Amino acid sequence: MGIVWILVVEDEPAMADLLCQGLEEANHTVTVARDGAEGLHAAEASQFDAIVLDVMLPQMDGVELTRRLRAAGRQTPILMLTARDAAADIVKGLDAGADDYLTKPFSWKVLLARLRAISRRAPRPAVSTLQVSDLSIDPASSQVRRGGALVNLTATEFRILEFLMRRAGRVVSRSSMMEAIWGFEEEIESNTVDAFIKLLRDKIDRGRERKLIQTVRGFGYVIREEE
Ligand code: CA
Repeated sequence: MGIVWILVVEDEPAMADLLCQGLEEANHTVTVARDGAEGLHAAEASQFDAIVLDVMLPQMDGVELTRRLRAAGRQTPILMLTARDAAADIVKGLDAGADDYLTKPFSWKVLLARLRAISRRAPRPAVSTLQVSDLSIDPASSQVRRGGALVNLTATEFRILEFLMRRAGRVVSRSSMMEAIWGFEEEIESNTVDAFIKLLRDKIDRGRERKLIQTVRGFGYVIREEE
């Protein structure tokens, strides 16, 4: 299993869109943050598999973001993006705890290869299987089973299910799911969450006596065993 969920911290809209598009084409789920403060907040709030981090950012630069994230004990692999001839930035970034860097403009093949490399080097957190009733998911392998049978989910469906499973028994709002899964992009509408929940239900609950994904009207969803 390679990298799945990537946080892109980039303030230039064109570059953010380019990164987002390219990474999604490589089958990653992408969350975008538009400045350093937003990036740090996102990186602390969620368990990303890797961070693609621009160095020159408003609010807080990429070096400071890296320093604070590492100081908080988060080991998420970080690939820094720097302007050409920014040797001082590169040294500061690596010293602060970034795993690797790439200068702009970059080649996609190289960017994807660097991401694979830093994810291999990263210490794998010990993640155990999450279970609700006869539904289990393994965050390390992205395997999902209901009643022992394998269930195939897309990357986004898996993220949503994992988000719910990690909060099993607790009601989660649509807005918190949107922020965690899609980040701070404003184009996402709340009925996008509902559409994905419908897809998940078709795969997990359909035809089952016990429905696990439950709607909390006007608020959000909860995954739990009892009605
Ligand atoms: Ca920038």
